[in-house]
Amino acid sequence: MQASHLIGAHVSAAGGIANAPLNAAAIGANAFALFTKNQRRWQANDLEEKQILLFKQHCHDANISLESILPHDSYLINLGHPDDELLEKSRQAFYDEMQRCEQIGLSLLNFHPGSHLRKIPIDDCLAKISESINLALERSSGVTAVIENTAGQGSNLGHSFEQLAQIINGVEDKSRVGVCIDTCHLFAAGYDIRTQEACKQTFDLFDKVVGNQYLKAMHLNDSKTALNSRVDRHESLGQGEIGQQAFASLMKLDVIKGIPLILETIRPEIWQEEINWLRFLAKQ
Ligand SMILES: [Zn+2]
Ligand SMILES: [Zn+2]
Repeated sequence: MQASHLIGAHVSAAGGIANAPLNAAAIGANAFALFTKNQRRWQANDLEEKQILLFKQHCHDANISLESILPHDSYLINLGHPDDELLEKSRQAFYDEMQRCEQIGLSLLNFHPGSHLRKIPIDDCLAKISESINLALERSSGVTAVIENTAGQGSNLGHSFEQLAQIINGVEDKSRVGVCIDTCHLFAAGYDIRTQEACKQTFDLFDKVVGNQYLKAMHLNDSKTALNSRVDRHESLGQGEIGQQAFASLMKLDVIKGIPLILETIRPEIWQEEINWLRFLAKQ
């Protein structure tokens, strides 16, 4: 029987991707995130068929479906890069990431939209991001590009619902683009979710501006920094500026049922506790 909430964490894939589902199972997760290559390097070896088979076996053993897995791309990629040569490098790397997902049989790829680096207008950067997504989707199949909202730190785009909608608007195949809402980034970007009313208002606004049909995943994190700080600093659930009530309200939303809910909180040793607490809240 499929639990209605898919909850997990961004687990380590050290020693090979096949270890990620083992790490997820160890904390009682039925969803997880991972990097399919070193997130701080451009180059990576091709995935070995043996590792892929073992990965699938471990997912199967842990009762985790491949659709509940949310791989995250490399931090080096900037799909809105103002420089043509570096944009091309990012697009190639993003396409490689998509291919890795396709090879493993994963259906989602989570990424940060991109940064204008104060060299080009916001609209131009957003258009480049849409075009980068188009190029990757054209050359791949079966994988949905999942744009993560950002805290709006520095020149990072995708911190407002309007910007997310604008990126999606420029994507040709709307069936293969989606959004991952990170609660820490959401709050740091100025969207309040601390009370039940505020949470409802924020998610109603998301539906109005972006559309609930695009919500494909969430990152559940508290924030060390204040509302609208535009600074991205994760905290354990309930221990930051967002607080416990927000997560209680979130777990009641219909829109989060059946999509991966991933912890990127700062104390992996309490992930199991955090997952249990979220499951408890969902049942209230
Ligand atoms: Zn995140
Ligand atoms: Zn973050």
